[in-house]
Amino acid sequence: MKIHMLGTGHGDPTPERFNTAALLETGSRFYLLDAGAPAAVLIRKNLPMSRLRAVFITHMHEDHFDGLAGILKFQLKYAPENGTTEVWLPEKRAGKLFRTLLSAAHLPIDAMPGKLLWKTIRPGFFFDDGFLRMEAIPTRHMHIPEGHFPSYAFLICAEGRKVLYTGDLAKDFSDFPLARASEADSCICELTHIRLDSALPVFGSLPLKKLIFSHVGNDWHGAEAEKHFAEKTKALPYETVLAHDGDIYEF
Ligand SMILES: [Zn+2]
Ligand SMILES: [Zn+2]
Repeated sequence: MKIHMLGTGHGDPTPERFNTAALLETGSRFYLLDAGAPAAVLIRKNLPMSRLRAVFITHMHEDHFDGLAGILKFQLKYAPENGTTEVWLPEKRAGKLFRTLLSAAHLPIDAMPGKLLWKTIRPGFFFDDGFLRMEAIPTRHMHIPEGHFPSYAFLICAEGRKVLYTGDLAKDFSDFPLARASEADSCICELTHIRLDSALPVFGSLPLKKLIFSHVGNDWHGAEAEKHFAEKTKALPYETVLAHDGDIYEF
């Protein structure tokens, strides 16, 4: 499987990085992991929107869903007649909000009932279309003063490979899904809320083939910071990279 990094920034877009979005490709099928980057990024890269089978949103912070309305508009307008895109959201009320938003933009959402299938992610295995299998692992990123809301890491299984995609984590890294990470071949981990120094011993104990840091916080932007990152991670016994928009990783 391939993962195209469309947006690798933290909560605020920067001159170099869009908000979080990654496109997973397996066979000739495409799936979106978070949708913080605008639809135009997919178009400019000539990635076929019409083959977008599903979108998976880890949690309801806008840097993870900001581009979703535009992407769904394309599905309504241009996806094949009998094409369906499943929209997997972490909270049921979010589905209602997006349907309202698309209706308010006068898109024919009710006239095309099969085009978008609205689904709510639950912990455990939640998606399997025979090509891609997804497991949602609850994290504590959305345990905030306003309440406890769902947020997930995903264990992604395709082509006999497993990739752990952490979504956003709690600041103390205590919700990193260690047991599931030990099963994974590779990990895509956020690098905004966590402290790299606390995470490194945990990563050092994992039998990974590749570790990719995305959702890159301000501390890790720029040439000097990248040098510092390379220095800190060089002891890890596998390839470790800091993601940039446009990177394509093969697993
Ligand atoms: Zn975020
Ligand atoms: Zn977040």
